[in-house]
Amino acid sequence: MTDPAHSPVASAKLRPWHLDRNAIVYVRQSTPQQVADHQESTARQYALADRAAALGWPRSQVCVIDDDLGKSGRSIEGRPGFQRLLAEVALDRVGLVLGLEMSRLARSCKDWHQLLELCARFRVLLADADGVYDPTEYADRLMLGLTGMMSEAELHVLKGRMHQGKLNKARRGELVVAVPVGYIKHPSGEVTFDPDEQVRAVVRLIFDQFDERGTVHGVLRYLIAHDIRMPVRAQSGPARGHLEWRPPSRETIRQILRHPIYAGAYRYGHRPTDARRQRPGHPKSGRGSGLAAEDCQVFLKDRFPAYISWERFEANQQRLAANRSRHEAAGAIRDGAALLAGLVWCGRCGRRMYVRYGRPGQRPSYVCSAQRSDYGLPLCQSLSAESLEAWVAEQVLAVLRPAALETSLTAAAEVEQRRSQLTRHWEQRLERARFEADRAARQYHACEPENRLVVRTLERRWDEALQEVQRLEADYDRFARSQPRLLGEADRAQIRRLAEEVPALWHSPTTTAADRRQIARLLIERVVLTVDPADDRAAVRLEWAGGAAQEHRVRRAVRGYDDQSDWPRLSARLAALHGAGQTPAVIAAALDGEGFRPPKRADRFTAAMVRRLLDRLGLRPRVPRRTSPPGGLNAGEWWLHELAGHLGLSPHTLHGWRRKGWLHARQVYGRGSPWAVWADGAELDRLRQLQNCPRLWSNRDQLATLRRPLPRK
Ligand SMILES: [Zn+2]
Repeated sequence: MTDPAHSPVASAKLRPWHLDRNAIVYVRQSTPQQVADHQESTARQYALADRAAALGWPRSQVCVIDDDLGKSGRSIEGRPGFQRLLAEVALDRVGLVLGLEMSRLARSCKDWHQLLELCARFRVLLADADGVYDPTEYADRLMLGLTGMMSEAELHVLKGRMHQGKLNKARRGELVVAVPVGYIKHPSGEVTFDPDEQVRAVVRLIFDQFDERGTVHGVLRYLIAHDIRMPVRAQSGPARGHLEWRPPSRETIRQILRHPIYAGAYRYGHRPTDARRQRPGHPKSGRGSGLAAEDCQVFLKDRFPAYISWERFEANQQRLAANRSRHEAAGAIRDGAALLAGLVWCGRCGRRMYVRYGRPGQRPSYVCSAQRSDYGLPLCQSLSAESLEAWVAEQVLAVLRPAALETSLTAAAEVEQRRSQLTRHWEQRLERARFEADRAARQYHACEPENRLVVRTLERRWDEALQEVQRLEADYDRFARSQPRLLGEADRAQIRRLAEEVPALWHSPTTTAADRRQIARLLIERVVLTVDPADDRAAVRLEWAGGAAQEHRVRRAVRGYDDQSDWPRLSARLAALHGAGQTPAVIAAALDGEGFRPPKRADRFTAAMVRRLLDRLGLRPRVPRRTSPPGGLNAGEWWLHELAGHLGLSPHTLHGWRRKGWLHARQVYGRGSPWAVWADGAELDRLRQLQNCPRLWSNRDQLATLRRPLPRK
């Protein structure tokens, strides 16, 4: 066999300008598996360096690019090695590219032709085990183009054959990758019910509960209330097939309800891949959200043992779809009422908070409900929208005030000035680099061509100078792109004019909530809320679109005076005013005037509130009540405030219970007089239990019982 390196054809193609530049060996294997399996092929690829040496390249000028070892993928994205190869060629540093098989250098025709085009333009030779090719020559170019096409065709046929084989298996209903909870796939490929009785019982329970409750959330709440956990069998790893019990989640329940296997059906290809949404390096990206059973690529009924009938499965799907459309419709009607919808984030768990509108007429609030809707846990936090929105609206209008705007525009001008300094600096650097390149070029041209060694050094110097210019230009371009657009004088004038109109527009009756929200969204990046249950003020962090942020605390409705941060101050002030001989009405007005606020949602104090507070502090209101008719407590009755003290509750709470009908109570001297509560032994026990029972969804049945007063003796 003749050595191709010394064959007359090969040596005819080799020119001095090829040998002056580098030889690159490009080593590639698709998958880590192949890398492990085909050690020999990899060794052969590295041996190509010897071939480059045999063709006449000095060892120091042979470089190996093996960044793509173990990289699969049909395109250059995600394959830095191939990109580096292209870059080296385009920088005119390469004289020869070597690969084990030419056509395998690139995996798609597009990449291959790009490489060919570049090699032809920069007069680079290509070589594999069979020979040396010069892409500037017609015959070689044709031949290389054809090899690329053949390789792509081969790949296509191979993939098609693999896919067809898989599809045939699926058509027979035999291709089962993984089975959901409640089923077991045996090594033989057979699919049966899970042998664990408890697992089967939980699956059946989910279907039964869905029949009864009709919503995924209903089923989830039921499972949580009864502390039922979900079975999970590990699909892979050392514990494969091992049974674990995990807390239920909305998603697992939904998947069970939607999976046709539970009705005994087989499906394949229910999540087709959309090539437009695929990302390189993410094999599972671009998959759809799941087709209806009938639209799947393969769909066969009665293939597996079934938990439910097909009719029941279909009824469930209809019910789920109806729930979904009702949910969407509800969202659409209310859309636009809350100013900050979609902008509020939870400062505790980092999730987006949603708007809860409640019943008509009720004030909306922002809630972090992800944990509750996914896992049935209590709400993370919530805050009524009113005070938050009022403060944010104030801030929005404040930043648009002419004075504030002038400050921003001045700041922008300063930024521009600093930027022009930077730009000047860049221009100077570029100028210097271009001058260096010019000088290197002049030196190169002035040199005698016979002095080969000097010419080569000068050429390299010129080359390096040009590269430096190129690099700087690219850097400058990147810098310029990263800078925001400059404001012209016309832009400024327009901003000033528009800003003057914003406050009027904001308050105009024809402006809808959606319009206001639009304005807020333009200016505000997000609002982060942190509610501390022990504090009656919530921390708000307002992040503006420009990156600035400001913090504030807004008042929130709390359950009682004890939760209020200024209760000590309030009680002291109350006692002082009372000591000065003021009547409740005067005290109420004074407290309002001094900026105190009652808890819950009341805006101002009333005389009645002050009277109750004085009562609580053990002080007697100054103005005596109307003289009371004779009367008194009956057997088993307590004064309401005494009972509250006995139970360690606030009288407000007990009054709340009374209003809700959870107590037997009466006004001893008629309308407007103090309340008495009947609570003998058993009833007192009930009230204690009611007081101590945590307000959780899981306790709701127990709470409902405890809230019913015992029959009065
Ligand atoms: Zn949260």
